[in-house]
Amino acid sequence: MKTKTLLFLAAALCTVAVVHAEKIVGGPQGGRLLETEPARAEFVVDAERKAEVRFYDAALKPVAPGAQEVTLTIEAPTGRLKLAVVKTEFGFATKDALPAGDPYRVVVQVRATPEAKPQNFRVDLNLGHCAGCDRAEYACTCESH
Ligand SMILES: [Zn+2]
Repeated sequence: MKTKTLLFLAAALCTVAVVHAEKIVGGPQGGRLLETEPARAEFVVDAERKAEVRFYDAALKPVAPGAQEVTLTIEAPTGRLKLAVVKTEFGFATKDALPAGDPYRVVVQVRATPEAKPQNFRVDLNLGHCAGCDRAEYACTCESH
């Protein structure tokens, strides 16, 4: 009986560890990598608090956006806010700096083409610095939290 309980506990702990390990993948610009199709994308916030979704090929080389469409929506306690985005060299960026009041959730929606099914990614935007991995908290790759 006791062995069974221990085995169950071990299995439960393993499940938790796996969930944490696949939580966040860091992007080349210090942001968070999103598993988009066909190109990969990175959600990153620059020093001016502007958010950008950058596209990469399989070797993580930046590529110009094609037919993709990106929308960024903030889900703050004060309500939802869709941000205006402009096309950049390697993706899409917000026209203005992100509003104050973070941490809040940002929903990144990417479509491969205007007709494609949207892929949604939820980023809990915390711009604080993590000393553990030397990245922003929203892109923290530490496995412990
Ligand atoms: Zn970290």
